[in-house]
Amino acid sequence: MQPTTLSRRNFLLGRRTAEPGPQVVLIGPGCLAANGVVCRSCAESCDAGAIRFRLQLGGIALPELDATRCTGCAECLPACPTRALVLQAVPTSPTLTGDCS
Ligand code: SF4
Ligand code: SF4
Repeated sequence: MQPTTLSRRNFLLGRRTAEPGPQVVLIGPGCLAANGVVCRSCAESCDAGAIRFRLQLGGIALPELDATRCTGCAECLPACPTRALVLQAVPTSPTLTGDCS
């Protein structure tokens, strides 16, 4: 289940269904490249250029996410043969509230 938020506007308008918040991709431990197998399928499916591969001396290039480019479009998810990619909510900074006492 995807994390969701319910905006104040929709709450006040009686729309109780939550809207998805901003999300980015997380590269999980099931990644083939992280386990010694060459794979770049995710980067090839990302038009935003958010997934790049870092070359390693004597090793296989590993995927890295540029979260500033990731739009959360999910286009890369079905391209991953091991389903190692998942969307996760972008952490939001805590909102300061007034004194409740
Ligand atoms: S497509 Fe999946 S397995 Fe392949 S490099 Fe990307 S995250 Fe790893
Ligand atoms: S969710 Fe979209 S923008 Fe983000 S890495 Fe995947 S394809 Fe690229």
